Amino acid sequence: MMLSGWGRFPRTDCRVLAPRDMAELRTTLLSEPSVIVRGNGRSYGDPAMNPNATLTLRQADRFKSFDPASGLLEAECGVLLQDIIETFLPRGWFIPVTPGTKFVTLGGMIAADVHGKNHHGAGSFGDHVESLELMLADGRVLRCSNSENRELFDATRGGMGLTGVICSAVVRMLKVESSYIRQETVCTRDLAETMAAFEQSHGWTYTVAWVDSLATGRGLGKCVLYRGEHARKEELPANKRDEPFAIAQRRVKTVPFELPRFALNRWTVSLFNALYYAAATPGTAIVDYDSYFYPLDAIMEWNRIYGRTGFLQYQCVLPTAASRHGLTEIMTRVARSGTASFLSVLKLLGPGRGMLSFPMEGYTLALDFPATPASLLLLTELDAVVEAHGGRIYLAKDARMGTTLLRQGYGGLDAFESVRHAADPSGKFGSLQSERLGL
Ligand SMILES: Cc1cc2nc3c(=O)[nH]c(=O)nc-3n(C[C@H](O)[C@H](O)[C@H](O)COP(=O)(O)OP(=O)(O)OC[C@H]3O[C@@H](n4cnc5c(N)ncnc54)[C@H](O)[C@@H]3O)c2cc1C
Repeated sequence: MMLSGWGRFPRTDCRVLAPRDMAELRTTLLSEPSVIVRGNGRSYGDPAMNPNATLTLRQADRFKSFDPASGLLEAECGVLLQDIIETFLPRGWFIPVTPGTKFVTLGGMIAADVHGKNHHGAGSFGDHVESLELMLADGRVLRCSNSENRELFDATRGGMGLTGVICSAVVRMLKVESSYIRQETVCTRDLAETMAAFEQSHGWTYTVAWVDSLATGRGLGKCVLYRGEHARKEELPANKRDEPFAIAQRRVKTVPFELPRFALNRWTVSLFNALYYAAATPGTAIVDYDSYFYPLDAIMEWNRIYGRTGFLQYQCVLPTAASRHGLTEIMTRVARSGTASFLSVLKLLGPGRGMLSFPMEGYTLALDFPATPASLLLLTELDAVVEAHGGRIYLAKDARMGTTLLRQGYGGLDAFESVRHAADPSGKFGSLQSERLGL
């Protein structure tokens, strides 16, 4: 079938196989020369596609055990984050690190080592994985943790499916007092104020900023910053205290068709940005977890707004010391290009863990662009800025990066390749992305 990532670019015809159990998975691995696992296809580019054999394991979706004393949850790789939340939040447990959508699988979160709005304090998702069961290319299943097969454990968390199949994992959940977030909204006028606001928010568990990517001159880098804490029961308004763990029931809308390319242009995005900024009200509010963490999940198939040709998400991280200069350069080029980025998100990350895991200490900026030749040219220009500032691009968002930037950006690549080669000497696990990047 034709497959793509969430960005709907590129699209490729792939043979999709759905092994029903571990035995079938093993037989498939032994008989196929080249495979990749696909979670729920929420990575943007081409890491979850292999034309020869793309293995879907969404059917492996059982919870195996939960210990309410320690918060340790063991689940199969195809479990959706949405199901984890809806099962465990009513019992007072939340996922310790979450991406901006709940439509991802446990396997996909580990393979991309996803980060959330709390990376500066909590690290990435892999930091909360106690152990995982990995099926290697030869069909053996190894338990990996900090004390068993440590190198393989490190390479798999962020390894984009290239070390083997993550069959199941044990995750340490986070105890919370409610399903609500105490959110504080801060509006800034330029990049200096934005960075100062992030630095002053270090004590907050969650921070994230929406940046106006079309603002120029003195307004360059202005943002609306949202910081948040899990609300304690006594902080909830009286009408919510009886049911502190309510599961959000939002009305989900669907984008009914692909919008024509001209619908998103410099003027419409500019108008959206102006309205968004004007509507943001500085101050504190109690909001439900779904609106705080997953605003985009309220619009099903929002990826259709970029039209039939799809879009590219560009997410880079720059080391802290180079961030001010590098972000100014990137934002100036984007604003000048007129290639409007509809969603521009800025976060401050803490130290990373190495190998292929994306986070490093510094600012990460994510921008969306329609998949057009003009955008591809602009992104090549941005690559040069990222490279010059010692940054890197997030593999879970990538559809086009070149080998040089990958090698410059990921200092742990040699270590990753040596662990991967030992685990999979014939290079059975491979995706369109790994092929493009010579991995
Ligand atoms: C709206 C939106 C917001 C997002 N926000 C964030 C964010 O804030 N932070 C962030 O870090 N990411 C974010 N992402 C990216 C997303 O979290 C990651 O791409 C995640 O990996 C997607 O999970 P998936 O189950 O859909 O995996 P897929 O996209 O299907 O696969 C991703 C990678 O994981 C591998 N993989 C999947 N399952 C397994 C398995 N069982 N064993 C081995 N390898 C496997 C695949 O081979 C592939 O390389 C966002 C994506 C969207 C669409």
